[in-house]
Amino acid sequence: MPAESGGSVMSTRIAVLGTGIMGAAMAKNLLKAGFEVGVWNRTRRKAEPLAEDGAMVAANPEEAAEGADFLITMLPTAEVVGDVVGDGVLGALARDGVWLQTSTVGISGCGELVKLAERAGVHYVDAPVLGTKQPAEQGELVVLASGPEELKERCEPVFDAVGRRTLWLGPEPGEASRLKLVANNWIDGLLGALAETIALARALGVDPERFLNIIEGGQMDSPYAQMKGRMMIKGEYPVSFPLELARKDVGLILEAAAGRALGMPVSEAVASHFDRAIESGHGQEDMAAIYEGVQSS
Ligand code: NAP
Repeated sequence: MPAESGGSVMSTRIAVLGTGIMGAAMAKNLLKAGFEVGVWNRTRRKAEPLAEDGAMVAANPEEAAEGADFLITMLPTAEVVGDVVGDGVLGALARDGVWLQTSTVGISGCGELVKLAERAGVHYVDAPVLGTKQPAEQGELVVLASGPEELKERCEPVFDAVGRRTLWLGPEPGEASRLKLVANNWIDGLLGALAETIALARALGVDPERFLNIIEGGQMDSPYAQMKGRMMIKGEYPVSFPLELARKDVGLILEAAAGRALGMPVSEAVASHFDRAIESGHGQEDMAAIYEGVQSS
């Protein structure tokens, strides 16, 4: 029974497609909150541990979605989301089912997925998230949501299970994806500047730890700089946000800016650093490995 018609969390079924870093953590928190969760992942063995938390591990996306009140997609790109979801998955949802699209897909990607939902007669909420592996594991994501106002209340318990805060941005899907690109541009620019700063410190014979120490706790500091900066200094990049996906996001940002005739030379440079890091084999590591791209430039 869908939650809005008097059903409890316990009787609300959610399908999660994609149990990578983010999807697996979100599925766990949904289970912890008492939802019934069906999961599917391309590489099944990565989804299987979720069975211990009470998830039904499905053999295919349609099986996960069968009779679900909510569909959550947490996959790399709009193309992959479209391929995985297809018509079969949307048709398998419960009547009045809602698709919460949480992957970062950009503006045109969001538009394509909205069309897919419309064709299938399924409600669509554009719901990208802010936060990485640890906030996802702790249920501390920030959910940026846009979609029909009448779905807001119904979606709240789901978003509350995965996040500490939901910003409902308006009735039009796309609003949330636009804000997500803006936020990611800030992070990507910061990361690029941080990598160049650490490279500069080393080139000048300055201990980069000293740089992190002098900004620590002051107005120039950011927790992000401390965390990612230490990874760059050590040259160790345990993955929270795969670099290849961060590069994908810069591509979405540049595409969106180009559509508005806005030049973004800083983001272009960040994209080149990411590309060099990928060429030298760091695509699957954390985005902090952008430093390796700066080093090789
Ligand atoms: P991830 O750990 O790399 O997981 C990607 C997931 O997509 C895996 O389940 C993977 O399956 C699946 N997948 C990849 N290619 C596929 C294909 N062709 N067909 C079917 N499934 C495919 O990525 P993530 O970090 O969870 O990110 C997921 C989305 O969230 C992305 O849009 C990302 O930009 C966004 N995001 C990430 C973060 C973060 O900090 N990590 C934060 C906010 C938003 P396999 O296991 O089979 O490879």
